[in-house]
Amino acid sequence: MSKDTSLYHVRYMNGYSAVQSVRYLLDIMSNPCMQTSYPTLALKKVSGLRRLLSTLVIAEHDTQQVTPITLSAITAAKQLGGDVSCLVAGTNCTKVAEELAKVQGVSKLFVAQHDVYKGFLPEELTPLVLDTQKQFKFTHICAGASAFGKSLLPRVAAKLDVAPVSDVIEIKSPDTFVRTIYAGNALCTVKCDESVKVLTIRGTSFEVAPSSGGNASSETVSPSAPVGLSEWLQQSLTKSDRPELTSAKIVVSGGRGLKSGENFKLLYDLADQLHAAVGASRAAVDAGFVPNDMQVGQTGKIVAPELYIAVGISGAIQHLAGMKDSKTIVAINKDPEAPIFQVSDYGLVADLFKAVPEMTELLKKK
Ligand SMILES: Cc1cc2nc3c(=O)[nH]c(=O)nc-3n(C[C@H](O)[C@H](O)[C@H](O)COP(=O)(O)OP(=O)(O)OC[C@H]3O[C@@H](n4cnc5c(N)ncnc54)[C@H](O)[C@@H]3O)c2cc1C
Repeated sequence: MSKDTSLYHVRYMNGYSAVQSVRYLLDIMSNPCMQTSYPTLALKKVSGLRRLLSTLVIAEHDTQQVTPITLSAITAAKQLGGDVSCLVAGTNCTKVAEELAKVQGVSKLFVAQHDVYKGFLPEELTPLVLDTQKQFKFTHICAGASAFGKSLLPRVAAKLDVAPVSDVIEIKSPDTFVRTIYAGNALCTVKCDESVKVLTIRGTSFEVAPSSGGNASSETVSPSAPVGLSEWLQQSLTKSDRPELTSAKIVVSGGRGLKSGENFKLLYDLADQLHAAVGASRAAVDAGFVPNDMQVGQTGKIVAPELYIAVGISGAIQHLAGMKDSKTIVAINKDPEAPIFQVSDYGLVADLFKAVPEMTELLKKK
């Protein structure tokens, strides 16, 4: 019913009399075949609905650059239809706002700068999102399904009293979305009837929006009153010369089969030849071989590189949940029955301690 009411608005706004619009509307509701008698009307229904849609994408950034997952969320937002706006909050967002203004498909930026947004605490960002929503009444609010989006949007949804839809991998229509369940073993199509749809978007499922060709207007918004529930003190980032795990084109991952942290050097040497990032299974992380920011899987990072090389990893479903969308999967495992071979494009049944150094040497000779 709500869709047909918007049709009425469209006709009315386009200069038709209200009585005329309602008559058309009733005709169509009572007899859908009548739509063919009103082809212009049917056309306007689609475009009118799209015009009534508007999405707010919450930008994730480090004050210098917008994250790739935000650009993927913008692509998803464009697929919803209607206008796409971005909210950029931080202590200093000038550079990021300039970058986002050029992103194709973004029509408006809302920029809020204040010291309270240091560290991007969800407690402080939530009131800002709510105030922006109150003023502009977006039909959809979305962000990337990263730690940032996952900590912010459930709060926003709770405050709006709507159920969020998390980790969306496909947009079927403005109210119907696909997401994975059971660690990626089943796909679930969700129809969301909430007045405002709050979504987190899986970055690996949507291309990044082109970073040039756009010309968004920018509006400064007043920061919301500080909440003061939490305080950002500091962050310690791991420094690495290797590509970042979630955006690398090639990932070499190691599992319990590596047997120790020292043996991961074999993978670093191979990764250096391939300009690859290095990941790990949870078993390798839990055993203390490598830090947990290297974990790939259901409770780790989701990656979808061009090439994923799994070394000494058995292929538990929780690991597959984080890498099975990789374009080409190579597995090296001494056990021919290892489940990882079921999802691999190429499998090598071999002792990794022999195979990996051989591969590295061959690559060095190239
Ligand atoms: C709620 C929950 C969430 C989880 N989340 C994640 C997650 O995000 N990511 C994740 O990875 N796991 C996750 N797990 C754990 C998961 O179930 C597995 O336990 C884990 O993935 C196994 O890691 P692995 O393959 O390295 O170890 P194993 O299963 O022990 O496999 C080691 C493999 O190495 C091979 N191997 C041993 N020696 C050699 C050798 N010399 N040469 C070649 N191959 C060798 C073996 O044949 C074996 O296949 C989760 C589990 C739960 C319950």
